[in-house]
Amino acid sequence: MSLVFFMASPKINPEAKYLRQEKLGEGTYATVFKGKSRVNGDIVALKEIHLDPEEGAPSTAIREISLMKELKHTNIVRLLDVIHTESKLMLVFEFMDQDLKKYMDTTARSRHGALDTATVKSFMFQLIKGIAYCHENRVLHRDLKPQNLLINKRGELKLGDFGLARAFGIPVNTFSNEVVTLWYRAPDVLLGSRMYSTSIDIWSAGCIMAEMYTGRPLFPGTTNEDQLQRIFRMMGTPTEQTWPGVTQLSEYKPPHVIYPQQNISQILPTIDACGLDLLTHMLQYQPEARISAVAALKHSYFAEVNRYNTY
Ligand code: ADP
Ligand code: MG
Repeated sequence: MSLVFFMASPKINPEAKYLRQEKLGEGTYATVFKGKSRVNGDIVALKEIHLDPEEGAPSTAIREISLMKELKHTNIVRLLDVIHTESKLMLVFEFMDQDLKKYMDTTARSRHGALDTATVKSFMFQLIKGIAYCHENRVLHRDLKPQNLLINKRGELKLGDFGLARAFGIPVNTFSNEVVTLWYRAPDVLLGSRMYSTSIDIWSAGCIMAEMYTGRPLFPGTTNEDQLQRIFRMMGTPTEQTWPGVTQLSEYKPPHVIYPQQNISQILPTIDACGLDLLTHMLQYQPEARISAVAALKHSYFAEVNRYNTY
C-alpha cells in the first residue's frame, strides 16, 4: 500500500471527530449528513460512501479521493477530511445550504423552476470557473447535473462530487436503486466513445444552462437510445458532414429518420443573443468543436460579470 494511501486515510473512528446530525441528501454513491466538528464546532457535510462489505475501499478510489483534497477553489466544494474505517469511507466536505435541483424545485417554484436571467448568468459563471479550474488540473467531473451543484445563502455555487466518478465509475443505478440520469451526458459518450475529454463536462454545463432558463431539463431521456433521439430531434441527426467520424463510434446505428436541426431559441424564450451564442458553442456535436471552459469565461455573455470579478 502506498504512503499516500496511508496518510490520506487514517483509520480512526469518525464518531470521535464529528457529531452526525440530520440527513441532507442521497446521491449516486453516498448518503450525506450534516455534521458538527467536536474539535472546533464547524458545520460540515459528512458523506458516507457505501462500500462493498466484501471488498472495502478500492485503493485506486482512495488515491483519486486523495487528489481531490488538493483541489482548492471557491467554486469547488472543499474536501476537508477523509476518514477511512474497516466498514466505511467518510468524506468531510464544507457545508452548503442546498443543491441546485432542490433550489429550482423550491425557491423558483413560482416561476416553474426557471431562474431569473441574472441568477442564470451568475451561476453559469461560477459553474464554468469551477470546471476551468478542474480541467486545468486535469480532472474531469463526468457527472455534472443540478444535484451535484451546491449553493449557499451567499449566492455561491460550487461543484460537488468531483473525482468520484473516476474513483468508482458511474454506475447504472444508485445504491438506493434509482436510475442514474443520462440527461446531461454528451452524445459522444452515449455513442460509445471512450475518449473522454474535458468537452464532456462542457456539454453537461450547456444542458444545465438551458434548464436554468426554462426550469425543465433540456433532454430528459429514459434510456441511452431515447436520450440520443431527444438530442437528435433538437440538434439534428448527426451525419459525417455535421460530425466527422460519428459513424465510426461503437454505438452508432444508421438512422431511420434524419431530423433537421431545430432552433434552440424556440424553447428558450428568455435567453438573449449572447447567451444563445455561448450555449450553441457548448452544445456542439464534435467534442473538439465544443468551447473550452477558459474560452467560455471570456465570452461576451459574461462581460458584465467579468467587470466585477477576477479569476
Ligand atoms: P453522490 O456522490 O453519492 O452523488 P452527492 O455529493 O451528490 O453524493 O450528495 C448527494 C446530495 O447530498 C446532494 O445532491 C446534496 O443535496 C447533498 N449534499 C452533498 N454534499 C453536500 C454539502 N457539502 N453540503 C450540503 N449538502 C450536500
Ligand atoms: Mg451526486
